[in-house]
Parts: sequence; structure tokens; C-alpha cells
Amino acid sequence: MGKRGPAAGRGRKGPERSAAKKNRPASQRVPRSDRAESKGFAAAPRLRIDILTLFPGIFDSAFSHSLLAKALAKGLIDIRVIDIREAAEGRHRVADDAPYGGGDGMVMKPEPLVRSIERTRGDDGHVVLLSPAGRLLTQARVRRLAGRRHLVIVCGRYGGVDERVSALAVDEEISIGDYVLGGGEPAAIVLVDAVARLVPGVVGNEASTIADSFEDALLEHPQYTRPAVFRGLGVPEVLLGGNHAEVARWRRRQSLLRTLSRRPDLLAKAKLSAEDRVLLDEKAREEAAARDGDPADETITAKRRPGRPRTSARR
Ligand code: SAM
Repeated sequence: MGKRGPAAGRGRKGPERSAAKKNRPASQRVPRSDRAESKGFAAAPRLRIDILTLFPGIFDSAFSHSLLAKALAKGLIDIRVIDIREAAEGRHRVADDAPYGGGDGMVMKPEPLVRSIERTRGDDGHVVLLSPAGRLLTQARVRRLAGRRHLVIVCGRYGGVDERVSALAVDEEISIGDYVLGGGEPAAIVLVDAVARLVPGVVGNEASTIADSFEDALLEHPQYTRPAVFRGLGVPEVLLGGNHAEVARWRRRQSLLRTLSRRPDLLAKAKLSAEDRVLLDEKAREEAAARDGDPADETITAKRRPGRPRTSARR
């Protein structure tokens, strides 16, 4: 990752090859992509991401850790951070101006932004403007974006972006939540992180991303690791027994109960079996009867410390 892409080539082979290799008969040559992929490196990035910002320094170490760093090193994704001011004109490269109609704050000017997008998007760039007025980012939207080859993410600042940028050069506007950030950069980091982990090869075990919260419209079941007892709290017996079918049933049940308890709005979109429905109906009836009684999530109930006042597990 880097400004105009110093990380772009990280982990990839240089263009120069030895003469001996070049002179091998065609039949012995391993296609470049196969050689690279057999070593765990992608021949070409599966996803290229360009981030347009007035504050490139914000991204200095944002992608240098953990999964993203590995994905960049393997060449699975390629991230470039581009300073919008490079496309601004004049000695001061001004990129913002006062709003027409008056009011506080400045607005990002259309010329540098549209120029910067046009220089970057190429033939395949899908342009996303980060904006509180955009469509809410969901896992389904993240998955769709992860299927593209090239994303151009535009970060707004100040009071926002001249509306004509959207009309002329943006494919979709995305909001990461119903709150206002000082700028699009933290939203871009969220978006890149969520999208990159769905790019094939980035997460070692892809099946684990399918079991994540929201993938089937349900929250994930609770997770535990060693020790088996921590500060007096144990782990549900079923997880220690080694019976995979029982574990799967318990996880499904917990996932359903947790979703019912914390995010019942999600259930409308979930694919539910007859057994799932029976469980949810039972719990809903119990909850209705108890009114403000215990939350349906059994794990949360178990976690409550003795003697501590009960707090609602609902968000
Ligand atoms: N005046 C704008 C409004 O009320 O909608 C807010 C502008 S905000 C201070 C500056 C920039 O931060 C926006 O142009 C956008 O790029 C980014 N931003 C703020 N909140 C965001 C959110 N929830 N999701 C995505 N981007 C956001």
C-alpha cells in the first residue's frame, strides 16, 4: 500500500527473469500465474482499490497489519492512496470552497475530484463515494463489492462534496452508519477491511467468513477458547464433548436466540427451517409473557455475574 502504490508490487516477482528461464522451450514454461499461485502469491491482484483523499497520511499504517498486510504482501489485493490535491490547479491546489447559498463550513470542489476520479477509474473502476447520505453498508453490499476487480473509494471532508461529483463520476454512495464522521477516511478503512477479507485467499479458511455474523442474516453464535474455566465461568458442556452434530445444533440455536434477543429486525431476512421457527416462536412467546424479564440469549444469562444488577442485552 502506498501513495500512488509503493505496495503495489510487494510480494510479486520483478519483471526481469534470467536468460536461462527465458530460453526454456514453451512446453516447459509454467504460466506465470500458476508459478505465483503455487507459492501462495497472486500473479495479479484480485482486487485493486484506489482511495482518493485529501489526507493520505491517515492511511500510513492502516493496512500494515494482520490480514490486510498479508493480502498486500501476497499480491491478492493492491491498494493505492491518491492525494486529490494532485488534480487541483493553481499554486495552492485549492480543493474546497464556500457553499453556494451561504452557511458554515466548506464544500469539496467538483473539478479536482472529478479529474482525480477520471484519472484513476480506468475501464473497470467502480466508484464509491463515502457519504452519510449513502446506502447503508451491509454484509451483502460488502460481498458485492468484493466481487469487483477495481474499486475507487472517494473520501469526502469538510461539509461534504459538491453534488455534481456524484452525478458525473460516482457509481454508488455508501454510508457506514447513521452518524457523521469528520471525513470519509475512517469509513474507507472500514470498507477496505470488510471487503478485503472476502477476496478469495485473504482469509485462510473461507468457510469461516460464510459463518460470520450477517452472512445468513443472523448474528454469529458465541465463541469460546481455553481455558475451560475463567474466573468461575465455564464453557457450555456441548462444546467440550466433541460431538460435531450436537455442536452444530447448539451453534444454530445460539445464533437464532442471540439474533432474536439483540437484532430481531434481522430475522425477517433469514432463511429459517421449520425447527428454527419452532424455537423462535417458543422464545418469542416466553419473552412476551415475561415482558421485561430475562433476555432470550441463554449465554448472556449465564455470563451475568452473581449479585450484579441485570442489564438488558438488547441494543
Ligand atoms: N455535511 C455532511 C452531512 O451532514 O451529511 C457531513 C459531511 S462529513 C463532516 C465529511 C465527510 O465525511 C463526508 O463527505 C463523507 O465522505 C464522510 N462521512 C461522514 N460520515 C460518514 C458516514 N456515516 N459514512 C460514510 N462517510 C461518512
